[in-house]
Amino acid sequence: MSEPPRIGLAELLDRYEVILLDAYGVLVTLDGPLPGACELIDRLNRSGQAYYMLTNGAARLPEHAALRYQGFGLAIPPERIITSAALLPAHFQAQGLVGRRCRVLGPADSLRYVELAGGRVVGLDEPFDVLVVCDQSGFPFLETVDDTLSRLIERIEAGRPPAMVLPNPDLMFPTGRGFGITSGSIALVIEAALALRYPNRPGLRFARLGKPYAAIFEEAARRAGSRAMVMIGDQLETDIRGANDFGIDSALVLGGVVGRDALGADQPQPTWLLPSLLT
Ligand SMILES: [Mg+2]
Repeated sequence: MSEPPRIGLAELLDRYEVILLDAYGVLVTLDGPLPGACELIDRLNRSGQAYYMLTNGAARLPEHAALRYQGFGLAIPPERIITSAALLPAHFQAQGLVGRRCRVLGPADSLRYVELAGGRVVGLDEPFDVLVVCDQSGFPFLETVDDTLSRLIERIEAGRPPAMVLPNPDLMFPTGRGFGITSGSIALVIEAALALRYPNRPGLRFARLGKPYAAIFEEAARRAGSRAMVMIGDQLETDIRGANDFGIDSALVLGGVVGRDALGADQPQPTWLLPSLLT
């Protein structure tokens, strides 16, 4: 199978009305901006071209994410940041979860997102009706995952299976020194444990909201008022699959989580390869 064509940044910006940007692995790592990221955002801000950062991160409210990126030299206004947790209000409405007791795994902003969606956030030692796994940080990891699994099993055996929501389905991310696991990996662990205990109940799974699912792309299209969009990302399973499924073009930035050998026939293929943000 032949590689997708390579494209330069200037041509990519020319071809599309709306630019969708992934955060980790494209613009930033945990430690700071990636090469070319600050220049790209400055250029978009100057030209007035519509752009949105589509991030599966569910650990920071848009205004806090914007402050953090601004500290890295990325002048992204909060209204241009669409997080997976910003999809929670619509999900809570659609699934009748408003007012229910929610255990939230994540830091303070994750709890705030769930409150903004109408959930009643309870402590990590309290009973819950809804489990929302937003992030891998902000709680004692093993103790919390063990207790959460135990409480889930209690509820299932009492005939009251809880709702499970996963805003950020990402499995891993580049840390700058290597890689780290993300909330999607926690969900997989919980789902695998439940599948082992209840092999005949395939429905014990998380509702997944962020990329590659359509809701986050719909939100970007709604804000932009256009579907003439390209998604620039570093992960085949989230950024590229999501763009393909939504019916928009995509560009894969090389050098992120995905190794070159992942560009196989059974993987989602990007429209373009973007070797660098610098040219
Ligand atoms: Mg990424």
